[in-house]
Amino acid sequence: MSGNQFDVVIVGAGFAGLYMLHRVLATGRTARVLEQASDVGGTWYWNRYPGARCDAESLAYSYSFSSDLEQEWTWSERYAQQPEILAYARHVADRFDLRQHIDFDSRVASADWDEALGSWVVKTGHNRMFRASVCIMATGCLSVPRRPDIKGLEDFSGHFYQASQWPTEPVNFKDQRVGLIGTGSSGIQAVPVIASEAAELTVFQRTPNFSVPAQNKVLDADWVDAFKARYSEHRENHRQGVGSGFGDLAVLPQAGPMDPVLFESLTADQARDILEAAWERGGARFMGAIGDTLMNPVANAFAQNFVHQKIKDIVDDPEIAAALCPSNHPIGTRRICVDSDYYATYNLPHVRLVNLLKDPIIQITEHGVELQSEHVALDTLVIATGFDAMTGALLSMNITGSKGLTLAEAWSEGPKTYLGLMSCGFPNLFMITGPGSPSVLSNMIVSIEQHVDFVMSCLEFMVDHQHQRVEPDPKSQSGWMEHVQEVANSTLFPQGGSWYLGANVPGKPRVFMPYAAGVGPYRLACDAVAEADFRGFEFA
Ligand code: NAP
Repeated sequence: MSGNQFDVVIVGAGFAGLYMLHRVLATGRTARVLEQASDVGGTWYWNRYPGARCDAESLAYSYSFSSDLEQEWTWSERYAQQPEILAYARHVADRFDLRQHIDFDSRVASADWDEALGSWVVKTGHNRMFRASVCIMATGCLSVPRRPDIKGLEDFSGHFYQASQWPTEPVNFKDQRVGLIGTGSSGIQAVPVIASEAAELTVFQRTPNFSVPAQNKVLDADWVDAFKARYSEHRENHRQGVGSGFGDLAVLPQAGPMDPVLFESLTADQARDILEAAWERGGARFMGAIGDTLMNPVANAFAQNFVHQKIKDIVDDPEIAAALCPSNHPIGTRRICVDSDYYATYNLPHVRLVNLLKDPIIQITEHGVELQSEHVALDTLVIATGFDAMTGALLSMNITGSKGLTLAEAWSEGPKTYLGLMSCGFPNLFMITGPGSPSVLSNMIVSIEQHVDFVMSCLEFMVDHQHQRVEPDPKSQSGWMEHVQEVANSTLFPQGGSWYLGANVPGKPRVFMPYAAGVGPYRLACDAVAEADFRGFEFA
């Protein structure tokens, strides 16, 4: 048993788990990481579907904690593809000698707080047991895939793939009649790549999503050198911005800095020009080009119309273009997708869009998809139907805190946290990028580093003051959750009906989970808490 006793147990070896481990080990503490996959990388381990690519720019979506690492690693493209990001995660694990502290193929089955000993007992599926006074959930926000409740899904006898559980061996679509269900970020990235190989591709779309072009490019070496020469300035900008941690400085050599203005100060022509420039610049920062697009319904409607017109300009068939134009949510209130040639793919003769709102799926059959109007024969079926986001992984682990309280009970009406970092009744259990923090609305690596740094400061504070136990006080937690909702309600986000709200999972409480005020203000709030001796946390 003593071999399984550590100061800290970390669940997950994605970007959060790796950096957490590195920081914990650097203080001389012992730590063990439990990871269900066979390698590091988290979401970038599992999501190997064709076209998988980050929607944050490579030089921003990378660790800042080591200037040597950031100088020595070379990103090839503006938006890195999944294999390159996974290679980066592996490089980090090797460079900082982290692998020896990680148990792979070790899915956590339960975590129980032992009040008498003041420690967590974490068990894996293989019934291995680990004990640690501190447990850190670095389990990712989009790590529990969702299988749609479509009749007959198990009956399909062709090749079947789920985007977020893609096999490690190559998948061949040549000469295949492929069907794809799901048109969120994953489906939208996969469609052009599958279409480039398959004999036929049928996309089954229930709800269209807004997508903006990535304008992906191979990075220019001189420009990268210039960027790296000012890396610390860029990083500071990512950390402090009111935006999402992607930086306000230009990440493309040819693009100028973004200087958002409010919609009401613009004429229609000026607003159109700004959106046009943002479209040409590419990427999710389209949403920030006009500063109040996510707050002001008029500004939002203008941006919606702009993208609708783009879709109509790109897609030849007016009926298909109309079906691709989202109309049930303000733009950006569901995660904006970033694509390479998505809309243009529908001009290819072997690519077909089925509008499920007009012609719903009755069932999946052995040989294809039966719609209300016809049977579509398929050799391969791909589903990209999303995740039980933000709370799915945490709630799947059977976490029991003090006095026998389970996390499922504590969160039965939706997640409750203080700062997205801890939850009352679960002492010494930290979450990295948990619900109630900017997490999925931000550049995840910026938010991961900030949370890990905060947790480390808290652990040091506990050592300095000889505390053994920490958890939020209930009043601070409920105050923070009210604040999170208040901020969300001052935006258009709650109108999105998205996975941010849990709306994609039947029966899941509808609570807006991420903190929408931006990474800069959130960081200030956390810093103020830390400076005030971790105000809002109770120590014992
Ligand atoms: P998603 O955005 O939740 O999209 C799931 C899709 O599946 C939706 O189009 C949904 O339609 C459809 N769907 C679900 N159940 C269905 C059913 N029964 N019948 C027909 N369609 C069904 O999931 P995702 O695309 O995996 O993306 C999730 C998040 O992961 C993204 O928002 C993003 O944050 C992240 N992500 C990031 C990247 C990147 O960095 N580039 C790439 C991929 C994913 P309805 O809307 O009608 O339910």
